[in-house]
Amino acid sequence: MTDPRKDQPDQLKPLPDDWTRALAVVAHPDDLEYGCSAAVAAWTDAGREVAYVLATRGEAGIDTLEPARCGPLREREQRASAAVVGVSVVEFLDHADGVIEYGTALRRDIAAAIRRHRPELVVTLNHRDTWGGVAWNTPDHVAVGRATLDAAGDAGNRWIFPELVEQGLEPWDGVRWVAVAGSSSPTHAVDATPGLDRAVASLLEHRTYLEVLTEEDPETYARDFLTGFARTTGERFGGRPAVAFEVFPR
Ligand SMILES: [Zn+2]
Repeated sequence: MTDPRKDQPDQLKPLPDDWTRALAVVAHPDDLEYGCSAAVAAWTDAGREVAYVLATRGEAGIDTLEPARCGPLREREQRASAAVVGVSVVEFLDHADGVIEYGTALRRDIAAAIRRHRPELVVTLNHRDTWGGVAWNTPDHVAVGRATLDAAGDAGNRWIFPELVEQGLEPWDGVRWVAVAGSSSPTHAVDATPGLDRAVASLLEHRTYLEVLTEEDPETYARDFLTGFARTTGERFGGRPAVAFEVFPR
């Protein structure tokens, strides 16, 4: 069996920082908090604008809570969680949790969001089949990650989804990078040191979800998970705790 890490660079490069607006597009509430909110905290500290777009409200995420009650609750938790890392714009595309379909409807909704926000950096979550060749990824993450990578191009082409232009959304061809958090083939990283405490606090805002997910004390769970990941990533980033991204330049 080949080691999937063999082809990876030994050291991760610093993520480019000559940009002012980022848009993060993910499937569910908590995806960004598990994935990269320490980096988001550092970006907003530096005066950059970051907005979140979620394909669903995570309404199918809690077995004991029916979707009609779960969706609004997880939306509130997501907004609180975003606020902890300096993000005040959180939008929901209202695709169906658990059964998000990759296709032109999803690409169009994400392309529309990119045209509204006009980011230079687009962030999404692992679009690959697995998490590091170990755990199978969920179809929602794969669909949204892939559609986001595709929509970064769609957003710049006036003849793809011409109905968006009719709605006043002019093409935006200014996306320079799509950065995928949680990828098993990372290329770049962001120093997690300044944002790590807020990343933990941000994940903790998903209280209802964490309470059903783990028997552990939620704060211990959130801190151990995020610091463990940041430390491992840091081994390839000069020893500093880090958040890794696979970057696709455009
Ligand atoms: Zn998710």
